[in-house]
Amino acid sequence: MRKPITDLIHHPYTPPANFAAPQPGIYKASTVFFADVAAMRARDWKTKAGYTYGLHGTPTTFTLEERLATLEGGTECLLAPSGLAAIALVAFAFLKTGDEVLLPDNAYGPNKALCTGELAHFGITHRLYDPMNPADLAAKISERTRLVWMEAAGSVTMEFPDLPALAAACRARGVLAALDNTWGAGLAFAPFDFNGSGQGVDISIQALTKYPSGGGDVLMGSVITRDERLHRALKLSHMRMGFGTGVGDVEALLRSLPSIALRYEAHDRSARELARWLSDRPEIAQVLHPALEGAPGHANWLRLCGATDLAAGLFSVVFDGRYSAAQVDRFCDSLTLFRLGYSWGGPISLVVPYDIGLMRDPEVSHWPHKGTLVRFSIGLEDAEDLRADLEQALAAL
Ligand SMILES: *Cc1c(COP(=O)(O)O)cnc(C)c1O
Repeated sequence: MRKPITDLIHHPYTPPANFAAPQPGIYKASTVFFADVAAMRARDWKTKAGYTYGLHGTPTTFTLEERLATLEGGTECLLAPSGLAAIALVAFAFLKTGDEVLLPDNAYGPNKALCTGELAHFGITHRLYDPMNPADLAAKISERTRLVWMEAAGSVTMEFPDLPALAAACRARGVLAALDNTWGAGLAFAPFDFNGSGQGVDISIQALTKYPSGGGDVLMGSVITRDERLHRALKLSHMRMGFGTGVGDVEALLRSLPSIALRYEAHDRSARELARWLSDRPEIAQVLHPALEGAPGHANWLRLCGATDLAAGLFSVVFDGRYSAAQVDRFCDSLTLFRLGYSWGGPISLVVPYDIGLMRDPEVSHWPHKGTLVRFSIGLEDAEDLRADLEQALAAL
């Protein structure tokens, strides 16, 4: 007679199949069972036709991937353990020794660090281009260029490039165009179909950590394509590098994704209100928000995002030259609702001071290389309360 411990592990009970509820079922697995050896041998782990091993996908990860691909207008999606891991996955899938990757001068900083670190160790070089000058990108694409990164709006300085022109420069030379679409989140514009033209980038990554999560409590990334051949290359590298995602985090994403459009609009509305208010303040020399007239790349934003009129909840300000870096630090320390912290997309407003002189390459940047810049990520607090907090901190300057 079998002992109860064995029976409880190999239990005959299976719950009825037709359970229906607002959230999809959550499946946890490293091991996945096969009905017989033939099924085990026949299974192709590279497709979504079935299951092989937790790392290659579960009903839960497939569901999130399909929803994210729909949001961005792609056909294939892979999850990565963080936004940065999604960037690294693109590099590892498509670059080999001797290749060159081009980055905008205002690229997400850790992408540059990946280039000067691991990619340089593997004999892959990189160069920076001026994102506001498509001719500069076209001139820098060489025989060795394999991959070009784009970002709209750019990190910290928030310039909005002419994405269709940058992507066209890549297409003309047959190099891969990859977009870090964390700012747009699949809502502000369609990364694979700019203005309904049918043309866009080849690959779009997102830090799901930001607006898709919306909680400031999850790290995850996505890599989306609408090219089966590119997806296969990504899937192979994804498997070889073992890029797994925790099911609890996937569950959190499935829970927050349905409200992303509402949250994005709320962040955007408050951010624009506060950005406009700050642009009238005598302490502020410039507000960098792509939806504000006079901001760098505003016309490009209007052309690409005019139809949705969406612009995320991020902006930066340049303080008037009469304020020292220490005074700007004091401003940041004086804020009470805004917390000091990296990342964005959650309910709590955040602030980070940056020394812009350390972040831009004087050879390519159009940015004047001095001064302290402060970036705000606007959360979901009441905008009037946030404005009052800014006002009292400006008084502390
Ligand atoms: C946050 C961020 C990333 C990286 O996301 P993590 O999940 O923190 O690794 C990549 N690109 C941009 C533009 C980001 O803001």
